[in-house]
Amino acid sequence: MALVPGGAVTAPMSVVVLDVVGSRQRVRLPTGTAAGRAFMQGLCINDEEVAMAALPSHNVIVLVSQSTDLCLFVAKIVRREGYFWTLLVQSRGAVHATACAQRCGGGLGAVPFKDCRMLPGYQRGACGSCIWQSHGSRCQHCT
Ligand SMILES: [Zn+2]
Ligand SMILES: [Zn+2]
Repeated sequence: MALVPGGAVTAPMSVVVLDVVGSRQRVRLPTGTAAGRAFMQGLCINDEEVAMAALPSHNVIVLVSQSTDLCLFVAKIVRREGYFWTLLVQSRGAVHATACAQRCGGGLGAVPFKDCRMLPGYQRGACGSCIWQSHGSRCQHCT
């Protein structure tokens, strides 16, 4: 909980650890809940993001190392715009029939999302995993 001086008490995005897979943990981000949607909509800084954030959404499962500090992880989603863009894509985007070559599509080597998803017209169609790794322009789905 964070106290805003002179204002309201706000709750951060609450993440849930689902299980441990090898050296990593599967974490659920509440991007499909009313609270998760309000959190992300409050972080939008332009009309394009507002439009994307208004689309229907679902929760996102992300694979992170077991040693990941989940409070820091949420902070990075707020501070790193690429992470925020990724969550818009992964929570609102469609699954590609064929995962791109960037180790999307599940399995122990997947980084960091199980699904290869994209939002048409957003980030030139790059998938979330590629945007997350700061190489969206090299995603094979990028137009
Ligand atoms: Zn992909
Ligand atoms: Zn990709």
